[in-house]
Amino acid sequence: MFKKDKPNILFIGLGMMGQPMALRLIQAKYPVFVHDANQETVKNYCNKIDAKSLLPSEDLSSIDVVITMLPDSEIVEGVIFGVDNFPGISSKLKPGSVVIDMSSSEPMRSRALGTSLKKMDLIYLDAPVSGGVRRAIDGSLAIMVGGALEAFVEVKPILENLGKNIFHVGDPGSGHAIKALNNYLSAITTLSVAEALIIGKRFGLDPNKMVDVFNSSSGKSNATENKAKQFMLSESFGAGFTAKLMVKDITMANQLGSAVNSSMELGEASLNAWRNALKYLGNDVDHTAIYRYVEQNQ
Ligand code: NAD
Repeated sequence: MFKKDKPNILFIGLGMMGQPMALRLIQAKYPVFVHDANQETVKNYCNKIDAKSLLPSEDLSSIDVVITMLPDSEIVEGVIFGVDNFPGISSKLKPGSVVIDMSSSEPMRSRALGTSLKKMDLIYLDAPVSGGVRRAIDGSLAIMVGGALEAFVEVKPILENLGKNIFHVGDPGSGHAIKALNNYLSAITTLSVAEALIIGKRFGLDPNKMVDVFNSSSGKSNATENKAKQFMLSESFGAGFTAKLMVKDITMANQLGSAVNSSMELGEASLNAWRNALKYLGNDVDHTAIYRYVEQNQ
């Protein structure tokens, strides 16, 4: 599919995840161009690591692969199809170019996006990630990919610089569906760990001991292993994933449930708690601060 071993990549979205991911591709010697809506971010990034910036409004005929790492479907679609007076990248890419959306986007919208891009002779893959900033830095993310198998095989060498466990999971939108359901589970366990720790503390238990016990027992989860001591009990609240993104992900999982006529009792309860936490804690707070919300409100 690509004429050369290392295709030209345009990486869009230099946030907490995008910056270390783009850096890994640059270090792997891919010709990478970067873009973010925040020009200051682009300037600082390019100065720091000697990256090249490319605006979506410029000539994109040399680009083979576009990777998006953006907040949500609305923004991804805006970048691809254009918004207000800005043309989208889809009208500027050459036929056969691949668009890989690595953001956590809405599965039903991604499915439709795959169909629209196919009509434009562009290839769409959804490839959301799990693992957070730490694993974006060391290139050990889990990546779940939806879209044509042949395209997946072609871009896998690129993804191997970003993740260790890379799965092809089905047609366009399938990666985003699994990602939303994964974060549905993560939201519930993170909230329940915060509740359990606060209840135990009020009873008089040592919360650090509680985490040790959970991690050797059936209550073990990613939240007990990688969040409880590190970010909740230490009160550093710096896992690198905001509560706002968590609310987005639970909302998407619940919408997916509705779309396939499944009730999501726990999904609704969890969404309610996370929304209240967001209101109380403020928009930019890390999701592990749910511990502080539980401590002060429940
Ligand atoms: P972030 O908010 O740190 O970064 C998003 C970036 O997108 C920002 O730099 C912003 O300026 C840029 N942006 C917004 N609108 C834009 C536009 N129209 N054009 C170009 N750039 C634009 O978010 P993040 O934490 O890096 O997460 C990115 C995606 O990855 C989200 O979908 C999130 O759900 C998902 N994700 C995040 C984590 C995590 O731990 N942070 C883990 C897994 C998945």
